[in-house]
Amino acid sequence: MKVLVMNCGSSSLKYQLINMENEELLAKGIAERIGIEGSFVKHETTGKEKAVIEEPMTDHKAAIKIVLEALIHAEYGAIQSMSEITAVGHRVVHGGEKFSGSVVIDKEVKAVLEECSELAPLHNPPNLMGIYACEEILPNVPMVGVFDTAFHQTMPKASYMYALPYDLYEKYKIRRYGFHGTSHKYVAMKAAELLGQPLESLKIVTCHLGNGASVTAIKNGKSVDTSMGFTPLEGLAMGTRCGDLDPAIIEFWMKKENLTIAEVNNAMNKKSGVLGISGVSSDFRDVEEAANAGNERAQLALDFYYQRVKKYIGAYAAEMGGLDAVVFTAGLGENSIVARKEICKDLEFLGIKIDDEKNSIRGKETVVSTEDSTVKVILVPTNEELMIARETKALVG
Ligand code: ADP
Repeated sequence: MKVLVMNCGSSSLKYQLINMENEELLAKGIAERIGIEGSFVKHETTGKEKAVIEEPMTDHKAAIKIVLEALIHAEYGAIQSMSEITAVGHRVVHGGEKFSGSVVIDKEVKAVLEECSELAPLHNPPNLMGIYACEEILPNVPMVGVFDTAFHQTMPKASYMYALPYDLYEKYKIRRYGFHGTSHKYVAMKAAELLGQPLESLKIVTCHLGNGASVTAIKNGKSVDTSMGFTPLEGLAMGTRCGDLDPAIIEFWMKKENLTIAEVNNAMNKKSGVLGISGVSSDFRDVEEAANAGNERAQLALDFYYQRVKKYIGAYAAEMGGLDAVVFTAGLGENSIVARKEICKDLEFLGIKIDDEKNSIRGKETVVSTEDSTVKVILVPTNEELMIARETKALVG
């Protein structure tokens, strides 16, 4: 069984073809600048030379056609014909309250996804475009939707409500949803495997620290709290997003700088976080480098970031009434030795003791805490695509 995994953004499309008999990656790639001049596909079949296909792609359908041609290409393709694709798994950002798990996409599901677009106007419309385009090109192939929000639908109401007038929840579903669910679920499962214990018996905090970042409390295999909320703006400070702040700042800031709500919203999403504080970059590699060279604001941005992650770990340990493991994943979590060390510093009282030697590692699935650390600190490279392929297989396989 071969599953094509699709992750469609507004002007890009990432894909992977996975053989689900053995979970082997057959091919992967990205189509970029869809709908913009200069569009291209970078394609790589495992074990073959990379290919770059430069062709105009006016929309997602055009891009998917080129991706499929690349997949069956005589020289750099991975399969003989499109009929080898058994199913397509689509990453969908927002499933609202309707979806607490992955679903086979049908007419009703698409109608609900259209409704959810209001909750994620930047993400859901391109996800849907990808679904419609695949349906046209692969009409008899089943499609599955895997939602970033679904894993967090197990949060208790006390975790997901905002302390706003209750009718806002009833009328408009203003509540916390959480994101990165596919990643949090995958790394928690991997961590349990590494520990040789059932996920259902563990209290885990998973830290997905990439450009976007969120922390999740997973008790007995279920998400019970997570740092992102109604949108992916809440929670940790991120590369360019501000994370938690006093909502009263918004009106004050608008008045002082004569800004519109859209301008403030844009600044909170694109000019804040680590970029905003450091003034250097949203990329942690640049900020770490600047801090090492003595840039105080860069160091402040890092200290701020580490402190916020630490705060969530403590809060979630308290919420779950204990802690067995802390898991780090995504760009920074997998690669930054200093970030893991600083976040775990002074948490010995909770039972967290990082081993500096074991922690001197990047991108490998491994335990990085000391033997006597009662809480295990674990590094797990995330693999959202494989998780999407597994969910797809489970539904249509
Ligand atoms: P996303 O998928 O959310 O775009 P990633 O999970 O790829 O993001 O994470 C990207 C972030 O990871 C970048 O901001 C970068 O700063 C950080 N990162 C990647 N490699 C390293 C590294 N070696 N050291 C520190 N940070 C890193």
